[in-house]
Amino acid sequence: MRILIVEDEPAIASSIAAALTAAGYQIRTAGDGEEAWFLGDTEDFDLVVLDLGLPKIDGLTVLKRWRGAGRQVPVLILTARGAWPERVEGIDAGADDYLSKPFQIEELLARVRALIRRAAGHASPILAAGPISVDTRQMRVMIDGANISVSPLEYRLVAYLLHHKGRVVSPGELIEHLYGDDDARDANALEAVVTRLRKKLGADVVQTRRGFGYVIAVGQE
Ligand code: CA
Repeated sequence: MRILIVEDEPAIASSIAAALTAAGYQIRTAGDGEEAWFLGDTEDFDLVVLDLGLPKIDGLTVLKRWRGAGRQVPVLILTARGAWPERVEGIDAGADDYLSKPFQIEELLARVRALIRRAAGHASPILAAGPISVDTRQMRVMIDGANISVSPLEYRLVAYLLHHKGRVVSPGELIEHLYGDDDARDANALEAVVTRLRKKLGADVVQTRRGFGYVIAVGQE
């Protein structure tokens, strides 16, 4: 695991570097935004610890450039104490987590572990969009945390759309993924399942894009 540490205060940079090295990570450091942007754009890292107050290019701009260029690396931002607008801006710009200075190095290590774990796909087993959530361990569908009774087929449909949240899924793809080989597989049967789900979950939850397919409403998150 390779981590880029971007911090212009040498004492903080070296204490983070020492802790991460001791925890078994490979590290690279950058002391200003220009170097950080260049390294993040040209090398692969599993995580970036990014101070926002940096010389040359500020951390927020660096983060926006990475995200604008499609860099998906998890980023933990470091912000000044009490600077909540900075944290909001950072998260909106694509930061995955933040720590306010001063912080305990153990907390930084814990957040780094969690971010790397999540990026590796061991995220929460709960998928959610707005009030709808699916617990993939227990195969349950919930609205605002309350269980809704669904058939296995209805469950698979909601879970599949949630896995592909934000994308319109064609009927053909859904049929391919939801039905077994021996089941009746046609678009009318699928539409009937969607209709039943709308009665259970709310009319707007599974939306039809006429001629394209279905998409789950993301709602307020
Ligand atoms: Ca700084």
